[in-house]
Amino acid sequence: MAVLQEVGQDIMQWSERLAQHSEPGWVEKGQLTVTYLTPAHLAVAAELKALMQEAGFDEVSVDAVGNVVGVYHGDTTDAASLLTGSHYDTVRNGGKYDGRLGILIPIAVVKSLSSQKRRLPYGIEVVGFSEEEGQRFRATFLAAGALTGSFDPEWLSQRDVDGISMAEAMKTAGLPGTLAAIQTIKRDPQKYLGFVEVHIEQGPVLCGKELPLGVVTSINAGVRATCKTIGLAGHAGTTPMSMRQDAMLAAAEISLMAEQRARLDEGSVATVGQIQVPGGSINVIPGECVFTLDMRAPTDPQRDALVSNIVKEAHAIANRRQVQFEYTEVMRASAAPSDPGWQLRWERAVAKIGQPVFKLNSGAGHDAMKMHTIMPQAMLFVRGGNRGISHNPLEIITAQDATLATQAFEALLDEIN
Ligand SMILES: [Zn+2]
Repeated sequence: MAVLQEVGQDIMQWSERLAQHSEPGWVEKGQLTVTYLTPAHLAVAAELKALMQEAGFDEVSVDAVGNVVGVYHGDTTDAASLLTGSHYDTVRNGGKYDGRLGILIPIAVVKSLSSQKRRLPYGIEVVGFSEEEGQRFRATFLAAGALTGSFDPEWLSQRDVDGISMAEAMKTAGLPGTLAAIQTIKRDPQKYLGFVEVHIEQGPVLCGKELPLGVVTSINAGVRATCKTIGLAGHAGTTPMSMRQDAMLAAAEISLMAEQRARLDEGSVATVGQIQVPGGSINVIPGECVFTLDMRAPTDPQRDALVSNIVKEAHAIANRRQVQFEYTEVMRASAAPSDPGWQLRWERAVAKIGQPVFKLNSGAGHDAMKMHTIMPQAMLFVRGGNRGISHNPLEIITAQDATLATQAFEALLDEIN
């Protein structure tokens, strides 16, 4: 199947079109922040809807959690569908391609099919997942969670930093904001062939090897937690060092311990990405410290050992420093090995367009790891420039690589029978 070389340029332009929408406080600085159901988020959803309509999808809709769903029918009405897509929300001050590329590439593919009036023996359903990054609410993968039937009812009453509950945010956005409505969008795996996701690598491997594409073998298991240490606030001038219960120093020691522990494993990583002393002052010993822990490993058992060691040692550190340690797990995702059949289709597709077949695992979590719980999945990675930097405005891809990824997607379609 021929793809015009301009397709990569289209995808770059569409990315810019989506990136025009950013939130107040960021947009003025030219930075991209699109978190769940904010006006910028709704504007991106509207752009995606328009792009899908322009591309010739048969049905385009926005569902109860804000997913933008485009369906391109197969040649019979009862044909099963290939499910694909990625997320359109971003981290704060993020990049233009994280998530979005995996929506735009299948839109380009359907645009090509539609312009040729070509129908396949199966349908294609493209989902622009509304939420993956867990920025506004502590409900990471809520969009994919709704599709897989694992939307946590308690999320609806969770509040953002401004005190707005998720249900209220949904209603303001014109969505029903009810659990009943959300439960109706759960997908029946019997109606799907599987799930594939194209995503930028978000790491330096493909860039370093000068390869445009990589076939994903597995997505790492992960756990995220919010933590709190509670000590005793005191006068920074009068309290002797030996008599302090410094909550921040306990958190600092826990952070360094987590680093040391992760380094003992091949492939394990642990990160304290946020750390704060709420209401702290320059002359007050921190009485409380809140911080996050993100821990990942290539397999579930390795992840579990990492987490249990770190939590146990954190308690020991807290005890020794006479502070309390509170640990609240907010996300737990199993490792998601690629389905062998779908992985092989990606490998053949990459080979068919004349590119070297290179396989790698994913250190980042993706919507595919959630979809993995109900249907077979496999991902294709696209090289990021600037050594693969992501969750950063320096995130970049080339139009040429976008073209190659689109060609690989079209070749994948030919592998389905
Ligand atoms: Zn992403």
